[in-house]
This record gives sequence, C-alpha cells and structure tokens, in this order.
Amino acid sequence: MLETEVAVLGAGAAGLSLAHRLAGHVPGARAPSVVLVDAPPGPLRPPPRTWCFWESGRGRFDAALRAEWRRLRVRPPSGAPVEGDIAPLRYKMIRSDDFEYLVGRDLARSPNVRRLEATVETVEEVPAGAHVQVKAPDGSTRVLRARWVFDSRPPGSLPAART
Ligand SMILES: Cc1cc2nc3c(=O)[nH]c(=O)nc-3n(C[C@H](O)[C@H](O)[C@H](O)COP(=O)(O)OP(=O)(O)OC[C@H]3O[C@@H](n4cnc5c(N)ncnc54)[C@H](O)[C@@H]3O)c2cc1C
Repeated sequence: MLETEVAVLGAGAAGLSLAHRLAGHVPGARAPSVVLVDAPPGPLRPPPRTWCFWESGRGRFDAALRAEWRRLRVRPPSGAPVEGDIAPLRYKMIRSDDFEYLVGRDLARSPNVRRLEATVETVEEVPAGAHVQVKAPDGSTRVLRARWVFDSRPPGSLPAART
C-alpha cells in the first residue's frame, strides 16, 4: 500500500495550488509528504482554459501570466464610461497550460511531492485517515493511504441553472 501524509486528488486549479503551497518551504515547519493524483489524459481532464483574477502587487504565478491590466473602463447603461487606475490591484490573466507547466516544474523539484497518474475511484474514511482507491492507466487498482485527503474532483453533475 502506498502511504502519504496528504493526498491531493485532482491536479486542476485547486489541486495544483494546494500542492504548490505544500511543496514550498515554511521556516520552522516540516514539509508533509504529498501524493498528487490526477486522471490520465481523457474525458476526466478539463479542456485548456484561461483564468482571470485580481491580485495586489506581485504574485507567485506572475512568471506564467499572459496579460495584466492596471486600468479598467466601465460602461454604464447611459452616460460616459468611467475609467480609472485600479492600484494596488491588478487584473491578471493566466492560461491553464502555462500554470500547469510552471507549477509542474516546481513540483518536480520538490522532494516531498510525488505525482500519480490514475483515476480515483473511491475515498473511504478509516481511523486516522482515509483509503483512496485508484485505477492506473493499465487497469490495475491500488490503494493509497493518507492522513489527510483534499478531494477536488468535480461533482458528478453541475448544480441546476449552471452552464
Ligand atoms: C471557460 C471557463 C472560464 C473560466 N474563467 C475563470 C476565470 O476567469 N477566473 C476564475 O477564477 N475561474 C474561472 N473559471 C472557473 C475555473 O476554471 C474553475 O473554478 C477551476 O478550474 C476549478 O478548479 P478545480 O481544481 O476545482 O477543478 P478543475 O480545474 O476542473 O480540476 C479538476 C481536476 O480533477 C481531475 N479529476 C477529475 N476526476 C478525477 C478522477 N476521478 N480521478 C483523478 N482526477 C480526477 C481532473 O483531471 C482535473 O485535473 C472558468 C471556467 C471555465 C470553464
């Protein structure tokens, strides 16, 4: 049985962000062992996408930004547009491919993070942790035992009224 302190299920925006934080050095704290599980290429993987977000000043993913804006223009239903500087905020745009590349490179250098390409089938709570059953691309199954599990697999169906 494979064992880890933290199992991160799904390597999308949430899973990669968490694994990146856990891989980083925190003075005085020991980095936990992490296994990051992501589905093999196929229908469970989301398509490439672009994320935009607000941030004040420099951020940890700036090296992967495709664009950033410091001025915004808002067009009200009537009257003149309102334009202004949004300092200290910036509106930043990052592509998922670039984010995955940047984070993946950092994780590859981290001795406490291990990546596993497999489909998560079940997560079962057990005393002092959980058992995660995964299926490898060759069809074999194995169990990962973890103290903590962060499950970022999307829900089976979207809430009503969502695209
Ligand atoms: C077109 C579009 C534009 C968007 N624009 C923005 C934006 O501008 N700003 C913003 O903040 N948000 C935006 N979003 C929303 C944003 O993409 C999501 O909120 C974000 O990706 C959710 O992150 P997540 O990690 O929860 O899920 P995801 O990023 O979808 O990651 C889920 C991960 O789980 C893995 N997975 C799924 N099933 C399994 C399984 N059984 N076993 C193992 N792994 C599995 C997948 O491979 C994937 O890596 C946008 C979304 C879309 C579709």
